[in-house]
Amino acid sequence: MKILVIGGGGREHVLVRKLKESPKAEKIYCAPGNGGISRDAECVPIPAMDVAGVVAFSKRNQIDLVVVAPDDPLAAGMVDALENAGIRAFGPKADAAEIESSKVFSKYLMKKYGIPTADYEVFDQPDKALESIRNRGKFPTVIKADGLALGKGVIIASDFSEAEAGIKTIMEDKVFGSSGNRVVVEEFLIGPEVSILAFTDGNCVRPMVSSKDHKRALDGDKGPNTGGMGTISPNPYYTPELAERCMKEIFLPTVRAMNEEGRPFKGCLYFGLMLTRDGPKVIEYNSRFGDPEAQVVLPRLRTDLVEIMEAVVDEKLEQQPIEWSDEACACVVMASGGYPVQYQKGFEITGLDKNGQAEDATVYHAGTSYRDGKFYTCGGRVLGVTALGTDLPRALEKAYRAVSGIHFEGAHYRNDIGK
Ligand code: ATP
Repeated sequence: MKILVIGGGGREHVLVRKLKESPKAEKIYCAPGNGGISRDAECVPIPAMDVAGVVAFSKRNQIDLVVVAPDDPLAAGMVDALENAGIRAFGPKADAAEIESSKVFSKYLMKKYGIPTADYEVFDQPDKALESIRNRGKFPTVIKADGLALGKGVIIASDFSEAEAGIKTIMEDKVFGSSGNRVVVEEFLIGPEVSILAFTDGNCVRPMVSSKDHKRALDGDKGPNTGGMGTISPNPYYTPELAERCMKEIFLPTVRAMNEEGRPFKGCLYFGLMLTRDGPKVIEYNSRFGDPEAQVVLPRLRTDLVEIMEAVVDEKLEQQPIEWSDEACACVVMASGGYPVQYQKGFEITGLDKNGQAEDATVYHAGTSYRDGKFYTCGGRVLGVTALGTDLPRALEKAYRAVSGIHFEGAHYRNDIGK
């Protein structure tokens, strides 16, 4: 089979490497890919958002399966366009991807079908939003831009003046463009967070092993929110009892709700959960593999990923065996100094072998370029240094040992992943 992966970050690198393990995969392309991915797949210079370009390339090269990994092309209808052209694609169509691309839609869905989530209201006028926040007088309160905002559209306001500033940023200054035309104002929840990715073919839902992200930039969960500074799997808070409860109260009801709405979801559905005192509640849905969650979940997959993706596309997931290893996995993200605010690029990375790898760990490249046998930084998150171990402390020790041998100017990473 010829497979094309869309995207160019750490998540796409783990997808490429996992797909490559399959005896079915003869050739893997990645559009646009990155320096590290170019050592594992043929990178083609098509931007991830170029729907027409991806369709034309897939036709020309007789691609058997396209894996659309990032949120933007899913929301823009890349899977719809590929299917219309007769090309098999893994990922939801645009109307189903709205479960991530519109928080107003996802909240409406949860309310209508009784799926546990934070109480909320939707506003399209800044003064109405502020009036309600003032009248409720409950802080912290959570303000979310309706649309996609690169993971930065959530403001947790600890008092009214922060809420005013947040509403202004999203709705008046339009920092996230039209994503801020509407806002969701919601109740602040407390509890540990768990990420669950699940394969679903629209009927059957098969949760993967659990994981935990570390979103803040600095040790001790300080500093600004980032795309994710590291992950572990399994998530120690996620017990088998909770897994059973989530299946009954959240996973199955969500897949059924999407069917009821006439938007069957096929692909990887991500459940961002908070384990509150009143039980697990949904913080957010994503319509794709999480990044860097995929980097710790997929290495534990024992079954051929190509087979699972085909079972999803063909709606035969129920019959597909899926096996996981009992090992733990840890990923430490090495970022450019100053990320997520301002950072420089173009520094040489040392300590990697000619394939961009390190001893005893797997290095998933997120923001690198490759020139004349050398790797250079070219993004905020640069590398996801990942290791498996018999337990979490061993996986973490291996990952951190590998990190200590990799260098580039300004490199920044958290020292407390999984602690
Ligand atoms: P991403 O897609 O990158 O995960 P996002 O922009 O979709 O981010 P959310 O996941 O909804 O944003 O929220 C980001 C983070 O903000 C959450 O992981 C959680 O830590 C915090 N958060 C969101 N909603 C709430 C809430 N109701 N109560 C408490 N914390 C919240």
